[in-house]
Amino acid sequence: VGTFDRLDLRHDFPGLLDGNGVDWHYLDSAATAQKPQAVIDAIARAYGVDYATVHRGVYERSANMTLAYEAARRTVAHFIGAASDSEIVYVRGATEGINLVAQCWAGEQLKAGDRILLSMLEHHSNIVPWQMVAEKAGAQVDVVPLTADGKIDLDAMAAMITPQHKMVALAHVSNVLGSVLDVRRAADIAHSVGAKILIDGCQAVPRLAVDVQALDCDFYVFSAHKLYGPTGIGVLWARQELLDAMPPYQGGGSMIDKVTFERTTYAPAPTRFEAGTPHIVGVVGLSAAIDYVQAIGLDAIHAHECALAGKARSALEKLNSVRVFGPEDSAGILSFEVEGVHPHDVGTILDETGVAIRAGHHCAQPLMRHLGVEATARASFGLYSDEGDVDALVKGIERVRKIFG
Ligand code: PMP
Repeated sequence: VGTFDRLDLRHDFPGLLDGNGVDWHYLDSAATAQKPQAVIDAIARAYGVDYATVHRGVYERSANMTLAYEAARRTVAHFIGAASDSEIVYVRGATEGINLVAQCWAGEQLKAGDRILLSMLEHHSNIVPWQMVAEKAGAQVDVVPLTADGKIDLDAMAAMITPQHKMVALAHVSNVLGSVLDVRRAADIAHSVGAKILIDGCQAVPRLAVDVQALDCDFYVFSAHKLYGPTGIGVLWARQELLDAMPPYQGGGSMIDKVTFERTTYAPAPTRFEAGTPHIVGVVGLSAAIDYVQAIGLDAIHAHECALAGKARSALEKLNSVRVFGPEDSAGILSFEVEGVHPHDVGTILDETGVAIRAGHHCAQPLMRHLGVEATARASFGLYSDEGDVDALVKGIERVRKIFG
């Protein structure tokens, strides 16, 4: 499967061995990805011989760390096709990125009677921040339905959007179903009524090549930890003119131009949105993770994961009493249920055979309700996944069916 040597890649990831050095079938990469040694080494160096603060030091170590911190901003900008480094804001993760836009863009712009458009498959982090800001503004949240195979229904979106809709926020790739959104078309629909569109790219950035200018969206967010990088760091990209017009998110050190007790003026974007000592080492780790995936190539990773998901889907569908959710062309994420067995039991039995999956509502309770289930079992692939993982999953599910008769 795929166009790269997956065996060599597996060796880059110490987390793919269990405590006894035995191969572990890690199928929970959509929750968080294992880290390649290159990222772990970059983090160790950044906390070790390279460690110093950024933006303040007059000594060489700090100046070098500042260069690394800002070079990483350029790496991120290139990675997602941003027009300029200054459109990249470091945040704690996708959740903080969405909250930042909800508070600093929507919180400023929305008036009573305005509307926000989300979809049925959104992660709670792309629902709750919008509800919070809508409630304050007296705005309303509307929900785009899904097609029968679990994609955001863009025909329905085109039919329901109105000039009252000021913000559209959609997932690029569903964390439950793996459905891939046609972002360009969604952006065209949003822009046709003058709305802005935010794309939650959490599950897309590790799985497919992203070019925010070609996609023509207005805001794009993702978390480093799903991209083989560290936790606690993520990215908000926004068009420069939108960032320039937004007030700061938090006040503190580093985000100011001049402070007096009478009046404070703010630094330009993106600095204005990065109050306090930033997650310096996280940024270094994110940059190393981007270098790592780019050396393999996102197109190759995408093809590899789609092939594994397709193989797993057809094997699971051959088993009696297993139902697989989502579209045929899922991008490396599969949700399924084993009839009569709670997903937590499925997950526990699989764990006994060295297969790690996720079981639960996946922070997407409205989607669970739509699917008519409380929870699903979810297998999600990463660039290091291989056919052995798929075989172990299928064998594990056969065992589940045997145990539950
Ligand atoms: N959106 C999607 C689609 C996700 O899968 C996740 C993480 N499960 C998030 C948003 C939130 O990301 P984080 O918890 O890293 O902020």
